[in-house]
Amino acid sequence: MPLGKAAGVRCLQLDDRNRCKLFGRADRPAVCSSLQPQSPMCGRDAREAMLWLTSLEQSTAPG
Ligand code: SF4
Repeated sequence: MPLGKAAGVRCLQLDDRNRCKLFGRADRPAVCSSLQPQSPMCGRDAREAMLWLTSLEQSTAPG
């Protein structure tokens, strides 16, 4: 995404199974490659991961 990914916008690089199409490639954004997944952000399933992500986006939103 040339201008970056806005909060709440699905990344264009996600496939139908929510897997990164750039994983392992040199053109994957550095911020993505440097992220170290941890249990609190992943939760037990995708629903819990989205709850954590939504909470993080809301707590860091400008204004
Ligand atoms: S890891 Fe980065 S590039 Fe890959 S899907 Fe997630 S946000 Fe998009």
